[in-house]
Amino acid sequence: MTVTTPSLAVHGGRAELDGLPDFPTWPQSGAEEERGILDVLHSGKWGSTHGDVVATFEQEFAQAQQARHAIALSNGTLALAAALRAAGVGVGDEVIVPPYTFIATAAAPLFVGAVPVFADVDASTHLLDPAATEAAITERTKAVMPVHLAGNVADMTAFAELGRRHGIAVIEDSAQAVGAQWGGRGVGTLGDLGTFSFQTSKNMSAGEGGIVTTDDDELAGAVYSLVNVGRVPGGGWYQHAAVGYNLRLTEFQGAILRAQLARLPEQQAVRETNARALQEQLAGVEGVAVAPLDPCVTAHGRHLFIFRVPELGDAGLRDAAARALAAEGVPGVSTGYVPLHRNAALVAETRALAQRLGQPVPEAACPRADQVSRDTLWLPQHVLLGSAEQVAAVGRAIAKVARSAHELA
Ligand SMILES: *Cc1c(COP(=O)(O)O)cnc(C)c1O
Repeated sequence: MTVTTPSLAVHGGRAELDGLPDFPTWPQSGAEEERGILDVLHSGKWGSTHGDVVATFEQEFAQAQQARHAIALSNGTLALAAALRAAGVGVGDEVIVPPYTFIATAAAPLFVGAVPVFADVDASTHLLDPAATEAAITERTKAVMPVHLAGNVADMTAFAELGRRHGIAVIEDSAQAVGAQWGGRGVGTLGDLGTFSFQTSKNMSAGEGGIVTTDDDELAGAVYSLVNVGRVPGGGWYQHAAVGYNLRLTEFQGAILRAQLARLPEQQAVRETNARALQEQLAGVEGVAVAPLDPCVTAHGRHLFIFRVPELGDAGLRDAAARALAAEGVPGVSTGYVPLHRNAALVAETRALAQRLGQPVPEAACPRADQVSRDTLWLPQHVLLGSAEQVAAVGRAIAKVARSAHELA
């Protein structure tokens, strides 16, 4: 009998990333953030009602994303709710959302009294499927919210066309896709409205924060009003033409975000180079699947590096693979989302709302979301900010774990 040397680090072998420096941490900042925060502090204008830092950031962000308008607000979750309300979505309306996303996408319709309806994702990309969306449309459907998951872009040609044909609003949840483009156009400008998040983990961050983009003057005014207690752009302080929240960002956050936006292109270039190298490295690895890039995705947001391990998933070994990867020294390995049609709180609240409204409780049949939730692994964006040497070692670690699947059982 031959004795094999242990290969996996989780079984005592040498960790693939042994001897390499630590990965970059996130968030990152420099002299620009420091100067910006101090300038706001000393100016005495800490709120955006008195200073112009948030307003300047809004203009810079709109330009970067090729949008006519951008309205900053407190976070990406409320950005979705504000976008829905601006689009006229309210009590009793149905909003189609993917089940494979962060919970905010499906919670936002409930905030405005609307019923979230799940349509399945494409298994290879994890993105909302236009055909499944079409099949979920009823006479109550008022909006669809494709999510640009991981920085990849949902099929916006199909969703824009579907929105026009059915007369429903298209709201792009672009929380993970700052900098991404579809056919050369920035995400958040392809539907009626787009929303972004500046929460700590996102590719641009102020700890918290968000922004809504649109090319439509009227929708922009409606979002502004919701963010600013019903005020009118350019109107008086006590002129409340609508009932709105206060969702404003502080000037301190605006200052940080201006610096983060300026740094983004350079960081995106590093993430892109590393993601492509990693994808190439994994192309020949059996048992590992990375979605091919749609040629319409002319810029990828690179928020997550997502891959599937279908055989390990079928064998119930995906979580063991995640632990094995972490033992190899790969930072931030995640087993991804529990699909939202399986979230008890969302299901209960949706059922209660539909029953109260006397409407049918939507049935969620999303076998592909169930499948990918069993076999998906991802790495956070800051891993893609590592050196070429570090990223190559990550690729070797993934290949090693996939090859040694039998050892995980
Ligand atoms: C982060 C995120 C949100 C919510 O943004 P917050 O700023 O954390 O409220 C919404 N949708 C998706 C897809 C996200 O990743």
